[in-house]
Amino acid sequence: MSLAEAAQAVVAQFEYTDDDVNRGVKEFLRQMDEGLSKDGTSLSQIPTYVTAVPNGTEKGLYMAVDLGGTNFRVCSVKLNGDSTFNITSAKVPVPKELMIAETAEELFAFLALQIKAFLEKHHGDHFEQHIRRRMTMSAPNGFRDENVFRMGFTFSFPVQQMGINKGTLIRWTKGFDIPDAIGKDVCALLQTEIDKLHLPVRVAALVNDTVGTLMAHSYGAPESSGASLGAIFGTGTNGAYLEKLSNIKKTLVGEYDTSTGDMVVNTEWGSFDNQLNVLPVTPWDVALDQQSVNPGLQMYEKRVSGMFLGEILRLAVIDLMKNPDISFFRDDNSGTNDLRSTTDIAETSPIYKAWAVDSTILSIAAGDHTPGLVLLRKGLDDSLQIHAAAYEDARAFQAIAGAIGQRAARLAAVAIAAVVIQTGKLANPDEMIDVGVDGSLVEHYPYFRTMIQEALSKVEGIGSEGAKRIRIGLAEDGSGVGAALIALVAAGME
Ligand code: ADP
Repeated sequence: MSLAEAAQAVVAQFEYTDDDVNRGVKEFLRQMDEGLSKDGTSLSQIPTYVTAVPNGTEKGLYMAVDLGGTNFRVCSVKLNGDSTFNITSAKVPVPKELMIAETAEELFAFLALQIKAFLEKHHGDHFEQHIRRRMTMSAPNGFRDENVFRMGFTFSFPVQQMGINKGTLIRWTKGFDIPDAIGKDVCALLQTEIDKLHLPVRVAALVNDTVGTLMAHSYGAPESSGASLGAIFGTGTNGAYLEKLSNIKKTLVGEYDTSTGDMVVNTEWGSFDNQLNVLPVTPWDVALDQQSVNPGLQMYEKRVSGMFLGEILRLAVIDLMKNPDISFFRDDNSGTNDLRSTTDIAETSPIYKAWAVDSTILSIAAGDHTPGLVLLRKGLDDSLQIHAAAYEDARAFQAIAGAIGQRAARLAAVAIAAVVIQTGKLANPDEMIDVGVDGSLVEHYPYFRTMIQEALSKVEGIGSEGAKRIRIGLAEDGSGVGAALIALVAAGME
């Protein structure tokens, strides 16, 4: 068997056909409905108590922070009231050791320190003024209420929301594991650390990043009737949409405005089909799940999002390298052909280390249209320490990476199609259906949205006409602006 044939056999296992997409959509709709009826289901369908989406006229200066998985972002957002905004932001990677810290305090103290650094750097005047006031005034926490920044806290992990700025952590995902934090109110954890540093900041709203994306896309796209779905394809994946209150059959505990007849629901679709009724399963999906911190959970996310695609690829590639019948990334690949040379993989290569291959390499592979695959071979050299890879090897790598990326995009289409069908908006042929998306994967993986659109056109009940009306747009700075918008709504309720 040639390398190309062996690679093709791997590629075939990642094929996700139109029929598979349709079966996926039906099951997704069933699990959405189940999640709206009761707790403890695969799709959590968490009510957010946000009962309307913005229309672009909102105004004011707010802060927003976002703990997404890989990075912590801090920003201030000036909403201009005309669908535009000005944003100042900073991003720091979350140190790996804090993701698995002993105590929640260690992680949240780090977050509060980043907020302090941001205020000092970007709002120095404001900050100094407040520090002085704090020393001269005897207001309860030292600050005049009107000078306290209202902050939206985007916390992209499953929480049981108890109110607009209160919610307890249900479980960690995306490689975080700090058992001490489970069951605790994450807003209180952050506020406590902010107060220790005497910062003029109040955590006004707890925001899921998908809800933020939905809000931001509605603020920025007021010519339509608001976005129908906000979705993330970054470290993890998730979506939020506006559901009819009458469809939410499970008990709503908090207080909320019933006048709109709607409520934003956070699907937590990363755990779609944990029971594997319809999700595709390759040997590498099984291996990845077994070595993950949460076997059996987040099964959809493990096939779709940035945190996992690099590892699926690594496992598939390693298997192929072990195949004695073919030569793949091995020294004996050296030959007379110009494009062939001695492959030299460093012992420290991420290819030998679980979770060490970043999904960025899939984007590099998908985007390389050069005849000699020079970009990918450079990427293999730079990021995977696979030096001087042979062309044929790079080609096999590209085929496998492409298959994994395409399956992810088609699976993404399953969730998007189901939510769009659920909103009922397809019934009106004149209506455009806006989907706001955010996250490095959908932003940087070449043709990710095109592949989603292609799969949407194959869905029964959508078809190519319906797919044309589904407008998938990047919600720029989605989580920041969205969190600011929810902080604004929350400030109005204080
Ligand atoms: P988060 O979801 O943590 O807020 P991002 O949206 O930036 O942050 O997503 C980070 C994830 O996206 C990581 O898993 C990373 O491997 C992946 N990623 C970053 N850049 C790319 C890229 N160019 N192509 C594919 N995946 C990427």
